[in-house]
Amino acid sequence: MSNDTSEGDDGDTGEAVKLDQLKQFKSSGRGFWHNVPEADWNDWRWQLKNRITSLEQLQRLMPTLSPEEHAGTLLANSKLALAITPYFFNLIDPADENCPIRWQVIPRIEETNTAPWEMTDPCGEDSHSPVPGLVHRYPDRVLFLVTDRCAAYCRYCTRSRLVSNASGYDFHPQFEKQIDYIRRTPTIRDVLLSGGDPLLLSDDKLGYLLGQLRAIPHVEFLRIGSRIPIFLPQRITPGLCAMLKQYHPLFLSIHSNHPRELTTEVREALGRLADAGIPLGNQSVLLRNVNDDVTVMRALVQKLLMCRVKPYYLYQCDLIAGSAHLRASVRKGLEIMEGLRGHTSGYAVPQYVIDAPGGGGKVPVNPDYILSRDDDRVVIRNFEGRIFEYPEAADGTPFVEAPKEIEEPELV
Ligand code: SF4
Repeated sequence: MSNDTSEGDDGDTGEAVKLDQLKQFKSSGRGFWHNVPEADWNDWRWQLKNRITSLEQLQRLMPTLSPEEHAGTLLANSKLALAITPYFFNLIDPADENCPIRWQVIPRIEETNTAPWEMTDPCGEDSHSPVPGLVHRYPDRVLFLVTDRCAAYCRYCTRSRLVSNASGYDFHPQFEKQIDYIRRTPTIRDVLLSGGDPLLLSDDKLGYLLGQLRAIPHVEFLRIGSRIPIFLPQRITPGLCAMLKQYHPLFLSIHSNHPRELTTEVREALGRLADAGIPLGNQSVLLRNVNDDVTVMRALVQKLLMCRVKPYYLYQCDLIAGSAHLRASVRKGLEIMEGLRGHTSGYAVPQYVIDAPGGGGKVPVNPDYILSRDDDRVVIRNFEGRIFEYPEAADGTPFVEAPKEIEEPELV
C-alpha cells in the first residue's frame, strides 16, 4: 500500500540521491547580469525595473524558447502579462524544456485553450465582494485585495482575470471603503491582505494599511499572502521587517512550488521575517511538470522547514481558464499526500485542498485512512498499509465491555 521512496524504507538510493540534491541550497547567481553592480542587483527596485516583460528580451536571454513558448509569449500581454525578475529568471534551466521554474512563468500557447468547465473567476470572488477589492465569503474573515501587480506572474494564477490588468479588468482598490466596511462589520476578526502582491507596496503605504486595520478593535489577526520572498527576496529588507513587526499578530503565507525556488537568498530573506516574529506558512499549487512528484514535494516541504516555514496548504490547481496543461490530477495529489504522511515529520505535511469550483471554499482532501466505521469501532490503516481497530467511544459514556482485541498501533 505504501509508495514510500525514501532511503531506508525501500532502499531506492536513486530517489535518495535526488532528494538530497533537491534539498541543497544554492544561490540564483548573477547569470546574464554579472556586470551589474552588487548594490543594484540587491536592490528590489532595480530588480523590478529590469524585469523581463517582452518576447524580444526573452528570446535574447533564452534562445532555446520552444515554439509553444514563443507563440504563448506573443499573446501573453493580452491575457496575463509576462514579467520575470532577473533574480528568478536565473533559476530557469534554458537547456531543459521541462524545467519546473520555466513552466511556472513562461507563457505557453496552451493558455489559449479553454475547456467548458474552466472559469475566469474559479473561486467566485467577484460575487462575494460587498465593496470593490474586498471578498467577504466567511462571516469572520475577509480577503483584502490591495493591488493587481506582482513581481512576476504565475501562468496558473487564480486571479489572472485581475492581476497585471492585461485583460482590462481595471482594478482600483478603494482603501478607505474597504477599511470602512471592515470597521462596520464586527464579525470580521481576520483580514488577509493579498492581491496581486501586498509586499509590492512601499513600506509606508503597507504600514498605513496595517495600522488602520490594527486600530479596529474586532480585528484580531492580520495575514499577508505574498510570493515576493520567492520572486524578489531583495524586497525583504530590514526596514520592511521592522515595520511589519509593529502589527503583530501578523502571519505571512508565502507561495513556493519547487525546492529549487528555495535558494540561499530566499533562506536569508525568510530568516529575516522569522526573526521579526512573523509566523510563516507556505501555500503550494500542485502543478504538472513542476511538483507532481513525491520526491520533489518531499524535498520542498523539508526544505521549507529548514527555512522556518510551515507547509500550510497544497492546492489542487483551480479551474482557471487556459490552465489545463498545468493541472495535475487529484489522483496524483492523493499519491503525494500518501508519500508525505508518516514518511516525514508531521510539521512538514501540508493540508491538500480543493477550492470548490464557483466559490464553495476550501475542501480538505485526504487519502482514505478510515476503512470502515460503525457504532462499535473504527478500522483504520496507517502509512505502511497496516490495519488497526480503534474501539469507538460512546461520547461521554465509559466502556462497559472490554474493547475487541486490537493490534497495538505504532506511534509515528
Ligand atoms: S504571485 Fe500570486 S497573485 Fe501574483 S500571479 Fe502569482 S499566484 Fe497570482
